[in-house]
Amino acid sequence: MVTKRTTLDETRRALESGATTVEGVTSGFLETIEKGKRLNAFLSVFQRKAIERARDVDRKLAAGKAGRLAGMVIAVKDVICMKGERTTCGSKILENFVSLYDATAVARLQAEDAVIIGKTNMDEFAMGSSTENSAYGPVLNPVDESRVPGGSSGGSCVSVAAGMAHAALGTDTGGSIRQPASFCGIVGLKPTYGRVSRYGLVALASSFDQIGPFAGTVADAAAVLQVIAGHDELDSTSARVPVPDYNAALTKEIRGMHIGLPQEALGTGLDPEVRQAVEQTLDRLRGAGAVVEEITLPHSEYTISTYYILMTAEASSNLARFDGARYGERAPGVRDLAEMYTNSRTAGFGAETKRRIMLGTYVLSAGYYDAYYRKAQKVRRLIQDDFFRAFTKVDCILLPTSPTTAFRFGEKADDPLQMYLSDVYTVSANLAGVPAISVPCGVDGKGLPIGVQFVGKQFDEPTILKVADALGSL
Ligand code: GLN
Repeated sequence: MVTKRTTLDETRRALESGATTVEGVTSGFLETIEKGKRLNAFLSVFQRKAIERARDVDRKLAAGKAGRLAGMVIAVKDVICMKGERTTCGSKILENFVSLYDATAVARLQAEDAVIIGKTNMDEFAMGSSTENSAYGPVLNPVDESRVPGGSSGGSCVSVAAGMAHAALGTDTGGSIRQPASFCGIVGLKPTYGRVSRYGLVALASSFDQIGPFAGTVADAAAVLQVIAGHDELDSTSARVPVPDYNAALTKEIRGMHIGLPQEALGTGLDPEVRQAVEQTLDRLRGAGAVVEEITLPHSEYTISTYYILMTAEASSNLARFDGARYGERAPGVRDLAEMYTNSRTAGFGAETKRRIMLGTYVLSAGYYDAYYRKAQKVRRLIQDDFFRAFTKVDCILLPTSPTTAFRFGEKADDPLQMYLSDVYTVSANLAGVPAISVPCGVDGKGLPIGVQFVGKQFDEPTILKVADALGSL
C-alpha cells in the first residue's frame, strides 16, 4: 500500500490558498489510516480529538495566531506519554496504562499547533529491529507487505511511509528511527544525545535513547526537530546548547564539504546491492563538489557487542519498575510478594524483553560486572574517540543504514543474534551520542528501498540535514 505523501509545505500552500482546512487535512489522514488498517501501524487513533484539535488550529489560523506547525499532522510512538491516553510500549504489561502527563516533545509539538493523530505500534519496550516483537501484532511494510518495516519504531515509520501523517515521533536507542526509515524509503533522524528532552519517554536504555522525527522530506524532519529540540528543566540530561535554525541549513550547497567514508563500512555482511547504492551515492556527492575522504573507525568490530552489553544492562534496570505494584498489570491470585513479581512479569513481558532482562542482569551481576559491563563502558569510550578523531578531519561521515533491505517476516525472528547484527551500522552513533540521519538512496532489484546515513558531530544537526537534503535533489 503506497499512498501519495504530502509535505508540510504543500499543506501550508493549500491552507493559504483556501483549498483545504486543517480539519480537511486531518480527516484525509484519518481515512488513510482506516484504509490501511491491515498494516497495523497504530495502537490508538484519536478520531474525535484530532478533529477537535484541527478545528481549533483552523480558528487560530483565521485569527492569525497559529503556531509554527499549524497544519502538520503527527503520529507518536507508543513509548512517549500523552496525558489521558494509553501508553502501552507495545507490551501486555502496560495494556491499560494511561499517562498522567505529556512528554515534553509532545507538549512542544502541541504548543506549536501540530495535530497529534494517534499512537503507533512498536517492538515491546523498543527492543527489536523488525516490529515483530509487539504484543499487538507485527506492522507490515507498505512497500511489500510480506516484509518487515524495520524496528523498533515500525508503526511511526509506516504511518509516514503510507501517508497516514506528515511526520511521526520515533525513538532511537540503537537505530530504531534510522533502520525502519531505510526499510520503508523515508527520512529518519536521530538527534544528538541530549538534544531532545526525554521527559515522558519510557526509558529503554537511558544513556542511548533519543526521540526524533520520521518524515517524507528532510525539510519536514527539520521542522519537527526545530520545535522539539532544546533544554528542558524536567530532563537534566537535555543539553543547554542553543538550538540553531535548521531550515536555514538546507541550502543544497555542499561544495567543499568533507565527507568521511570509514574503510570498515563497506566490508563483509553488506548486501552487494546496498553497497552499489552507497557507491553511487558517493559519486553523486562528489559530482556536487563534496570531497569524499577515507577515514577509519578502528573499533567498529566491537560496536554490536558493546551496545548489546550496555543496553541490556540499562534495560534490565529500567524495566525493574514493571512489577505489578509500581507499574504494570498485576497477575491475579498471588499469595506473596515474590509470586506477585514472578507471575506479573512472566505474564506481562514477551520473549525478547525477558531475554534482555536476563542478559542485562547477568552482565551487571557481582561476578561478571568487571568482565562485561565495566569493560564495555571502556570500549564505548574508545568507539566515541574514533568518531571524535574522525571529526577533526571531516564534516560528517557516511555509512549504509542497514546491511540489507527489508527482510521477510520470520526470517530472523528465531535467531536473536542475526537480528542484533542487522543493527551493525546504526548502534555506533548511539554509543558515541552523535546525531545521524537516514535518507533514501535507491532501491534494490526487488524495488525495496535502500537508505544511507550521515553521521555528524555532537549538536551539528545542521550539517547532516544539509547534506541529506542536498542528496535528495542530486
Ligand atoms: N534494534 C536495536 C535493539 O533492538 C535498536 C532499538 C532501538 O533503537 N530502540 O536494541
